[in-house]
Amino acid sequence: MTRTRSLLSAALAALVAAAAGAAAAGGTVNLYSSRHYDSDDALFARFTEETGIAVNRIEGEADELIARMQAEGANSPADVFITVDAGRIWRADQAGLLQPVESGLLAARIPAHLRHPEGHWFGLSQRARIIFYDREDVADPPQTYADLADPKYRGMICIRSGSNIYNLSLLGAIIAHEGEAAARAWASGVLANLARPPEGGDTDQLKGIVSGQCEIAVANTYYFLRGLAGRVEGLSESIDRIGWVFPNQSTTGAHVNVSAAGVAAHAPNRDNAVRFLEFLASDWAQEFFAGQNHEYAAVPGVALAPAPARLGLFRADSLNLVVLGENQTLAQQIFNETGWK
Ligand code: FE
Repeated sequence: MTRTRSLLSAALAALVAAAAGAAAAGGTVNLYSSRHYDSDDALFARFTEETGIAVNRIEGEADELIARMQAEGANSPADVFITVDAGRIWRADQAGLLQPVESGLLAARIPAHLRHPEGHWFGLSQRARIIFYDREDVADPPQTYADLADPKYRGMICIRSGSNIYNLSLLGAIIAHEGEAAARAWASGVLANLARPPEGGDTDQLKGIVSGQCEIAVANTYYFLRGLAGRVEGLSESIDRIGWVFPNQSTTGAHVNVSAAGVAAHAPNRDNAVRFLEFLASDWAQEFFAGQNHEYAAVPGVALAPAPARLGLFRADSLNLVVLGENQTLAQQIFNETGWK
């Protein structure tokens, strides 16, 4: 009897301790995110289930969220800033909106070239910016980014504008690998090869192949994969016509960029923010986060989603993505000076 009673009280004490632990681990984390998917709810629900931390989201365009955080200053409720493209999160970091995070878990799981060296931000999923072509019209598609500037492709290439962050980051990588003079010659050469003045987003470049306006297009992998998934009008019906090349496979590897997140400089819930980033680096969250947008996980060894698996394996550039931000101003200058729109 006495023994039963003491077991019961021990169990009760454990319950009370667990409840106290849950309360201590609770609270909230406020996300400022320019990435939005309907399936985010499932992602955040799982985080809340594991940690007791509620997730509040504020969604908007990256530049709007950056402006908002700047205006809010030290009073900003933002704990975590999430956006796409290393060049864009670099802008937020340059504006002093992010703080260093030391996390053994994040450092161990996310490859060094996909994160800021002092932990100001971490890449969470990867996309490659690659070459697409019309299988019917192009027998010898470009095999490298440099090939895009070859005069034999005159009048054939579609790519979005020179102020777009994806192109600024691509040119930033070319500057890093080839130097400024070569990057300038490349920008001039590609401009001379354009089928039309830059217009629209990456999907529009791919649609240009279908409509016959372009023979070659540059786009991020997930735009093509959305078409392949069968949900993009003007693209999906004729997607089989489009072939793809992962460029620079015998040299630097295909240019990759990331969706990334960092802890806000004035995060009121800093510990929860770090915990959230660590959660996003878990196997389950990695698979989910990348899979939402047909991207590649940032953490090595996480299962490849069926959509990107269809493109095959490739060699990715291992340049530290911070360099893309550092070269951004020069890249914009080169695009402007060579006459890009
Ligand atoms: Fe995009």
